[in-house]
Amino acid sequence: MTRFEQLAHTHSDLCRINEIARSASGLPVYALRLGTGARRVAILSGMHGCEPSGPRGLLAFLDALLSRSAPFEATVDPSILQSATLVVIPLLNPGGAARFAMHFPGSWHGTQLQGWTEANRQRFFAEGNEPLHFFFSTWVKQPPMHFTPDQIAQWEAGGNVLGSSLTDGGLDMWFDWAETHGDETRAAKELLGGFRPHVVADFHNFMFPTEVFAPTVYSQGALAWLEESLAGAIQEAWRARRLPFRDRPPRPYPKPAEPYYEDAWFHKLGAATLIIEFNGGMPATEGAECEALPGERPLTRRESLESAFVAATALARRAAETS
Ligand SMILES: [Zn+2]
Repeated sequence: MTRFEQLAHTHSDLCRINEIARSASGLPVYALRLGTGARRVAILSGMHGCEPSGPRGLLAFLDALLSRSAPFEATVDPSILQSATLVVIPLLNPGGAARFAMHFPGSWHGTQLQGWTEANRQRFFAEGNEPLHFFFSTWVKQPPMHFTPDQIAQWEAGGNVLGSSLTDGGLDMWFDWAETHGDETRAAKELLGGFRPHVVADFHNFMFPTEVFAPTVYSQGALAWLEESLAGAIQEAWRARRLPFRDRPPRPYPKPAEPYYEDAWFHKLGAATLIIEFNGGMPATEGAECEALPGERPLTRRESLESAFVAATALARRAAETS
């Protein structure tokens, strides 16, 4: 977060940074705004603290855009800021990310555990979700995914810390877009409600392989076409960089339509919506939503961050072109 601040302050002529909320433990949630173009694009990331590639890939993207650096030996054309206005919330859940960094030094997961043994699998899921199995005897998330202060106290009394997929308030933001219990979710909704984005993309990092989902289950007609077109541009960019991903026609995110999901709320704004899951290097093929392909392999940390950088670049460019 310090690097995002430094980057924005160094380029205060091109970029504004605002603290839009604080987590329950007092960590800031930042939003950056760049550009003056008519096409309004929002990119969110870091809703789940155990998913580090999005925030870091966005840092590389913004550095390339503002400082003209070339991370991953690739530049970003700054002229997109004339046709598009970008709002970036790079780390929606800083409390979860801080806990993740404590558990996984270097903020990288999965492949850092030597061997995907049963013990390592348990450790990984326990870190990400902690109280879920304790209270509900399952790792499968069920709404509202909001632990009460009593439950958190009971959990912490056992010597545990709150899982890194949750906010400091014990909430999985994925389920919070209708009832809005979290200050982090409320701030994001207020910001996006005022910004009225044409396009929203949210970067996650928990599936295998990397995949961009489109159209959403809520979209039809021109909106569905736009989502598929944006997804196609991202796939093309991954292909050009030889980054492994699910190289098939995009499919909708495999979740039913529910009012508490983020994409349901983004659609109320009229925004084309993309959910992108970067391969975190974790062979979690047991997740029903994952569709592992033959020959797929875990990404390296660098490849995972590059995948987020490339997706942000391709999305911003294509969205700017369609203004
Ligand atoms: Zn996620």
